[in-house]
Amino acid sequence: MPDVYNWHLGRTMTYPYPEAHPTKQFAAVFNINRCIGCQTCTGSCKATWTFSRGQEYMWWNNVETKPYGSYPQHWDVKVLQLLDEAHQAAGVQPQWDHSQASEQAPYGVYNGLTLTEASGPNEQVLGYLPAESEWRSPNFYEDTSTGYKGGAYGLSPDGASLPEHQAWFFYLMRICNHCTYPACLAACPRKAIYKREEDGIVLIDQERCRGYRKCVQACPYKKSMYRGTTQVSEKCVGCYPRVEGADPLSDGVPMETRCMAVCPGKIRLNGLVDVAEDGSWVENPKHPLYFLVRMEQIALPLYPQFGTEPNIYYIPPRWAPRPYLRQMFGPGVDHAIERYTAPSRELLAVLQLFRTTQKMIFRYEIEEGPLVREAEINGKPWQMYNDTVIGFDAKDREIVRLSVVEPLHERPMERLNSI
Ligand code: SF4
Ligand code: SF4
Ligand code: SF4
Repeated sequence: MPDVYNWHLGRTMTYPYPEAHPTKQFAAVFNINRCIGCQTCTGSCKATWTFSRGQEYMWWNNVETKPYGSYPQHWDVKVLQLLDEAHQAAGVQPQWDHSQASEQAPYGVYNGLTLTEASGPNEQVLGYLPAESEWRSPNFYEDTSTGYKGGAYGLSPDGASLPEHQAWFFYLMRICNHCTYPACLAACPRKAIYKREEDGIVLIDQERCRGYRKCVQACPYKKSMYRGTTQVSEKCVGCYPRVEGADPLSDGVPMETRCMAVCPGKIRLNGLVDVAEDGSWVENPKHPLYFLVRMEQIALPLYPQFGTEPNIYYIPPRWAPRPYLRQMFGPGVDHAIERYTAPSRELLAVLQLFRTTQKMIFRYEIEEGPLVREAEINGKPWQMYNDTVIGFDAKDREIVRLSVVEPLHERPMERLNSI
């Protein structure tokens, strides 16, 4: 297999195809700290793309309650276990060496096996095919009450109860990561899966696909799904007509996807980043995604050790146990939480941009405002300024303007009771 450079791992890794990169990459930052688990994102994707016969169990966007929830059931635990067994067989102790962190390796260097490196002789990617029953409950342990207890209508005289979350939980919102090195694409014997040159969105050619389900088996995030009625596989399409600016509302410029644009928690920021020939993100400090992922490093990839270089980044939750979070987001967790807990002046302004406009923001500017609050966070002084952040679309037109302090509108006395 050829060698490709994976900047999440800080090293080259093997992949079935030689390195080739799109000019732009579809990417997003999801702020776990703000998600309210309302599933509006999930519903919007379903209402747009997966409402037909044969797609009943398909949730291209899902929100699962960690640590128990997972769709399909136990997907991450199962993949981690497979990797663990592969490491034991190879006598490798997987570790991150954060001391080797650099511009090309922001999280340091990972010495463990990726899923392509750990694959067996007759497969391109280490994986498993979930059983049909595992797709049934999009958020098992959150929306499933106690089992059948007998009696009329199967209702329990004790009432229903959820398994207790002992001390903590958080919502993990997931879509296809439109990976730089997609495992689904690597595993497809029909070469039916491709990554678009113009935006890096990963699609399945429905004409070429023969439904072998190799992509379903290979995708570690389990975001490729089989449809029984058409006998081919399907996955999140990154709402590509909106990204292309073809949506009637878009005014000809790229728009955020459906699941991003509807989020009432304002936890999502979606955009396109410029990619250099070597696969790195082109330096662009005033692009909100570049600023959050590469400069502030508060948003991290999901299970980077799988080796697909996923393009959805997460601001980790402040309250969950750190070892659990380090396993999920890599060694950048402590730095990310520290920065998020006491945000810099610029970061606080950029965080206001989440889901404020349906159009993608390609550039921001900040107009400085007055000091409004002084506090101490983790023993250090911290100041808050009422700056104004301005977002610009692909044609560099202003599309949004917000202050850090939300304006307060007082209702006039004569309309005190009206809506
Ligand atoms: S719509 Fe937003 S807040 Fe609601 S579950 Fe989805 S990501 Fe969370
Ligand atoms: S998340 Fe899965 S389906 Fe999506 S591009 Fe990556 S490997 Fe393919
Ligand atoms: S990007 Fe579009 S297709 Fe993908 S999960 Fe979100 S709404 Fe669904």
